[in-house]
Amino acid sequence: MTTQEYIEREDRFGAHNYHPLPVVLDRGEGIHVWDVEGKRYFDFLSAYSAVNQGHCHPKIVGALTHQAHRLTLTSRAFYNSTLGEFEEFATQFFGYDKLLPMNTGAEANETALKLCRKWAYEKKGVPEGQAKIIVCQDNFHGRTITIVSMSTDPDSYRGYAPYTPGFITIPYGDLGALQEALADPHVAGFLVEPIQGEAGVVVPHEGYLREAFRMCKEKNVLFMADEVQTGIARTGKMLACDHEGVRPDMVILGKALSGGVFPVSAVLADDEVMLCIRPGEHGSTYGGNPIASKVSIAALEVVRDEKLAENADRLGKIFREELSSFPCEMVELVRGKGLLNAVVIRPKNGKEAWDVCLALRDNGILAKPTHRHIIRFAPPLVINEQQLREAIQIIKDTLRQMEG
Ligand code: PLP
Repeated sequence: MTTQEYIEREDRFGAHNYHPLPVVLDRGEGIHVWDVEGKRYFDFLSAYSAVNQGHCHPKIVGALTHQAHRLTLTSRAFYNSTLGEFEEFATQFFGYDKLLPMNTGAEANETALKLCRKWAYEKKGVPEGQAKIIVCQDNFHGRTITIVSMSTDPDSYRGYAPYTPGFITIPYGDLGALQEALADPHVAGFLVEPIQGEAGVVVPHEGYLREAFRMCKEKNVLFMADEVQTGIARTGKMLACDHEGVRPDMVILGKALSGGVFPVSAVLADDEVMLCIRPGEHGSTYGGNPIASKVSIAALEVVRDEKLAENADRLGKIFREELSSFPCEMVELVRGKGLLNAVVIRPKNGKEAWDVCLALRDNGILAKPTHRHIIRFAPPLVINEQQLREAIQIIKDTLRQMEG
């Protein structure tokens, strides 16, 4: 089958809820992927930061296949021999009392919202039904009805009303607005992405998270960090909140928690919050299944043993230095942290970010625009300096080629 035939089949039989770049991938290894015609690319999206450990990491795939032959799913109706091992490992790894396992980032966010509301009624004394949660403009936390109820992006929420009430929206990075919103005594939590990935890798000003956390503590409000995209070494620390020495009341993880081989997500919290949910009050058939548990332990070990946070920190600096000093009219701005970066494209000769991504694809790099003028560059964190420099050269050559 040709590339075009693969694309036509998806179009004919699949829902049209995505607009993929026209390339059909068939194989992946480390930082590379290959299309159905055998062409090799640098993957500079990493499945939206799920594949931080690189494609098909042998240790993670080994954990998957080993466990797949032994026991795959028990549901939580019974105990299994792997979940406790994962919970013990991950809570020690991140320094929390407890973990609640789910599958997708959206489910983990939903779990955090539920925990937050329950805590508000049981511990903070908010009258039943009155709890509010502060969220930020341009957030992205997933696709469920409640989560799109918090969204300010019409593509995410339009047509899905009625919405879930109970959210207060403030501008991202605005501590004054947060202070004002926190004056409401029914506020239970503040849900924030340490860097807004889907919004275009928007990095808040230095000290924002630290001060926001302090303000939340002052008002007995839970600080919930959605680290689904920023977590697990992507920004140059294990968690992006670590850059400011903030230990959130709840950490929401997904994506790279399994290195992209299996859907695993989780919420981390201490007992005071986590034990507000009791048996039968929340769950998921697949959440915490034996494969997920083993895969996730392996995925975290890889991040630790291969020092991926340190690598992301060092190489991210090179990436930003190289591209921000590159004289090119189409490069309006380069921003990011670690290996979560974005280039804001200034359209030229009728060419926009999408056209740049098509040209990058032709030249052997896969990246995807977000919000029309922004291209996110987020390679697997196992990339080395030589490979990064080679990719940077391709990006520069492509931009030059497009400028004419
Ligand atoms: N939270 C953040 C910050 C994300 O970037 C994403 C996905 O891009 C999600 C949540 C949703 O994760 P999932 O697609 O696994 O539901």
